[in-house]
Amino acid sequence: MPAAVPALASLRHWVFDLDGTLTEAVHDFALIRRELDIPPDADILAHLAMLPPDEARARHDWLMRHEQALAEAATAAAGAVALVRALHARGCRLGILTRNARALAGVTLAVIGLGDAFDDADIIGRDDATPKPAPDGLLYFANRWNVSPAQMVMVGDYRFDIECGRAAGTHTVLVNVREEELPVDATWRLADCAAILATLGEDAHA
Ligand SMILES: [Mg+2]
Repeated sequence: MPAAVPALASLRHWVFDLDGTLTEAVHDFALIRRELDIPPDADILAHLAMLPPDEARARHDWLMRHEQALAEAATAAAGAVALVRALHARGCRLGILTRNARALAGVTLAVIGLGDAFDDADIIGRDDATPKPAPDGLLYFANRWNVSPAQMVMVGDYRFDIECGRAAGTHTVLVNVREEELPVDATWRLADCAAILATLGEDAHA
């Protein structure tokens, strides 16, 4: 972890999880595990990666069709579009790090009105880097943006997002979860993206 906690508004390199962070959460992971014959406690992507290629391919195909439908029906999470627009206007570097497929991330961003907010090279999906909670995706952004992880912040709604940030050495913001649901050690816990934006405004006037 970075030694000191800076003001959130001083951070200019932001990486967002997508599903459940910039969008309303709709993935039913229990249903996905049932449909794909994956044990209840298993990591879906890690489990698929261990299967023989034929079995994995059929399941990946089903997952893509399922997630394509979810992407086309995506809705923005509270404050998400305003936050991304505000950070963009400040000249911040913005990335997406998702365990979804990169193509579906593009669909989702377009549907929620953020199709122009991220460079293609700043959208990293499950086939582009070892998926979260591995730090690889965040280290890609650190290298691409030529900054240290301590200058970055990872925003997400799940423990993998926070664990990924901690493993990479970035700051972390946990949003869109009730406090008691997720006992993980994020740098900040805020209600949603609207609360992040409000915090940025308060920092600016401090
Ligand atoms: Mg998520």
